[in-house]
Amino acid sequence: MTTQHDPVDHELIRAATQVAETRCRGDHHTVAAAARARDGRIVSAVNVYHFTGGPCAELALIGAAAAQGAYELDTIVAVGDRGRGVVPPCGRCRQVLLDYFPGLEVIVGSGDGARTVPISELLPASYVWADQLAAE
Ligand SMILES: [Zn+2]
Repeated sequence: MTTQHDPVDHELIRAATQVAETRCRGDHHTVAAAARARDGRIVSAVNVYHFTGGPCAELALIGAAAAQGAYELDTIVAVGDRGRGVVPPCGRCRQVLLDYFPGLEVIVGSGDGARTVPISELLPASYVWADQLAAE
């Protein structure tokens, strides 16, 4: 299967990298995420690590974006601290991102291997929350 993907938004990767390098401190904040909102602006956030299941950077970003009135996100990327580069979303985040933004594009892979893929491709044969709500 050949799928045409959008070009990689390197400005977005740089934004997440800068937040990871300057705002991630110690064990509480270890990953930064940046998203391109529909209106073009970039929103960023960091994870909130806690043993009870604190939110990943992608989930913290959804709330941060909403707080700024950015309810439509086009592209997201997460970058790890200590030079770890682009970090793909975990399973929980893939499900949440798909439910909130079905058309979202996600940057995965680092360096020359960075590519943009639809969230739906990162969660094949997925449970669709909206379908479940419609059935009730
Ligand atoms: Zn996650």
